Amino acid sequence: MKNRRLRQPHLRFAFLITLWMLATGSLRAAAPGTKPATTWFERSLVGMEVGPTGAQFGYSDPQDTRYCARFDGREIVRRCVAAHCEYVVIWARDGDYAYYDSALLPKAPGLGARDPLRETVEEARSRQLPVIAYCVVQQGGHYLAAHPEFAMRGADGKVIGGRFCLNSGYLDAMKQIVAEQLAYGIDGFHIDMLDQGFGPPYGCWCDACREQFAAEFGKPLPKGVTWDEDWDRLLEFRYRSSERFEKALHAHIKSLNPRATVDFNYHGNPPFSFEVGQRPVQHAGNADFVTGETGVWGFSALGVGLNAEFYRAATPGRPFQVAIQRGVRMYHDQTTRPLADLRWELLTLLAHGAFVTCVDKTAFDGSLDPVAYDRLGAAFADALARRAHFGQTPVADVGIWFSSRTRDWVGRERPAEWFTSFQGAQKAMFYEHIPWGVALDENVTLGLLKRFPVVMLPNSGILSDRELALLTQYVQEGGKLIVTGLSGCYDRWGRLQEKSSLEGLVGARLVRKLDSLDNWVRFSSKVGIAVPSEPPRRPGRDTAPGRDLRGETADNWPFLVKGPAAVFEPTTAQPIGELLKPHRTVRQQQGKEGTEWPLSVDAPVGPALLINPLGKGMVLSFASSPDFATASEHHIVEARRLLVNAVRFLHPAARVRITAPANVEAVVTDDPPTRTLRVHLLGYHAPPQTTPAKERPYVLPALLEDVPLFRATLECSFPIKGVKAFNRSTGLKRRGQRVEVTVNDVHEAIAVKY
Ligand SMILES: [Zn+2]
Repeated sequence: MKNRRLRQPHLRFAFLITLWMLATGSLRAAAPGTKPATTWFERSLVGMEVGPTGAQFGYSDPQDTRYCARFDGREIVRRCVAAHCEYVVIWARDGDYAYYDSALLPKAPGLGARDPLRETVEEARSRQLPVIAYCVVQQGGHYLAAHPEFAMRGADGKVIGGRFCLNSGYLDAMKQIVAEQLAYGIDGFHIDMLDQGFGPPYGCWCDACREQFAAEFGKPLPKGVTWDEDWDRLLEFRYRSSERFEKALHAHIKSLNPRATVDFNYHGNPPFSFEVGQRPVQHAGNADFVTGETGVWGFSALGVGLNAEFYRAATPGRPFQVAIQRGVRMYHDQTTRPLADLRWELLTLLAHGAFVTCVDKTAFDGSLDPVAYDRLGAAFADALARRAHFGQTPVADVGIWFSSRTRDWVGRERPAEWFTSFQGAQKAMFYEHIPWGVALDENVTLGLLKRFPVVMLPNSGILSDRELALLTQYVQEGGKLIVTGLSGCYDRWGRLQEKSSLEGLVGARLVRKLDSLDNWVRFSSKVGIAVPSEPPRRPGRDTAPGRDLRGETADNWPFLVKGPAAVFEPTTAQPIGELLKPHRTVRQQQGKEGTEWPLSVDAPVGPALLINPLGKGMVLSFASSPDFATASEHHIVEARRLLVNAVRFLHPAARVRITAPANVEAVVTDDPPTRTLRVHLLGYHAPPQTTPAKERPYVLPALLEDVPLFRATLECSFPIKGVKAFNRSTGLKRRGQRVEVTVNDVHEAIAVKY
């Protein structure tokens, strides 16, 4: 395996570079242009988390001495160091056991007299490898069974299986547990599972929560899920409970050892919603840095970059960690992904500015899979060789707005449907190589908005007065806003309003929401296309906005833009194109037949687009939801292009315009001190799958086995002073301000000097 791997030119090069870096001790040097790193998480790119397999479902047999019999801290450290890890996260506590000599918790049965936490700390000390203890908060198992007083309860008063209540007094128990682990001389904690559950029944209605809620709100807990003011208070109470617990645990650890780092595993991003008890910003910043998870196995290929940018937005200016795993399908599954697959995910995250922990779940007896460490070692060596290309300032032409209030009150108990618009906006930008970032309602400022030439509101139904004022100022001072579907059409409680909050920005009145999702759009050179007062123009092209926005779509051709839509009546906006409702059969009209499957186009009901120049900026609104359409099951290319054409229409002078296949992701960063614009190109080249055994046709993506071969073109808006590729296998041609590359790898970083 090893020889075959090194025969690939980019890896042979990476291997040589790594040897050189190891020899010169430069593996831990900070990237140029960044301030000197002081703590392990500021200077690290890659690490491992190692934990056992066999107690993950809780309530494992405490007499089974085979479990963890070979879980060996010294061996784990040696393997991690050989694999070029810059830190190790070692399993110290789960819902069943401690993996050290604890006075508070039962010890994993196979360990006998051994203490893997002590072994890890001792072995790592001589190698200057930081050791982070993995410690859970939520997990059903022997500890919860022994402490029923900490159990979460549902609205019916019954215990919710497997969950701790964060207000129950469990915090004091956790403080004692972390103190025990700190005494080993660890460098920090990775604290996992701070959720309040991942679905119904929701908690908590225990006596402690009843008492505390009454003290805070002067009212009794609501009777259940009511989606009214009482429920709003309960959601707030749940958020506050999580925040108090996190802050108190963090403060306690710092009081015992101010140098020990703390990070909490985070579930504030899609697909998670209110049930977890985390708001995107409120719960990301309560520790030294945030950690989240990606993985095609659970969060899609597009989720890798999306999660990284979400964590960045939730904790601006701070390092953020992303956990990936070595297994094919799910943690603990005893499989190892191919090298290309591991490298693609790792390098995608590094390109987005994250540092990355790869999770290895050992065999039942605690032994390690040598092939997994060989592959990860190759992936990490390659990543470290590219270190100088990571960590620069992101360049984003588009900021995709995420409204947590809309998540909770429009998404309610079906948030995935609402997430479709946010995720579709990101998918469209990815496929078309428009650099994007995330803007979160909780921490958005005018300065943050102004970093994005274009801001997109993907069905952001609920907008507060503060947010509306910021968006208005952003546009008036030159910002470009894209609005889709029912943005601004809901009140604080998620009820449809008669008047859109965005009326002044959109320049049109809300007439009615369409009941259908299978809505249509048509552009015709004869109908509804006119030139707005001051269209942005690109020299040398036919720049009638209707044509620009329509792109290559055939004249007078209706096409499906699946998703929420509304009829708007322009006041100050210029209408373009037509929104058309779908046909409904008689049986559908009688309510006897479903409408899940799209039906053909019927009649026009309003304009498709509205362009409203305002102050120095402009608002472009879609009456339909091309973002929703893009992530829906009825995605057509034309729907996606509407969104992309809108971005290019509003922001024609991007610093770099990238052309590449749709399966190539582009991440753009800037390094002003060295005047270097970097374009990371990441090729996601998954082979086809066959029919699944269940839930056809919902296939899981295949693993990447080969490195792709693809072409890309970068057209820069500035004179190029020099351009370099990282991989020696990359073909590179420069013609004026245009660079053409042929890449034969999952990752390339093109550095363009300006
Ligand atoms: Zn409770």
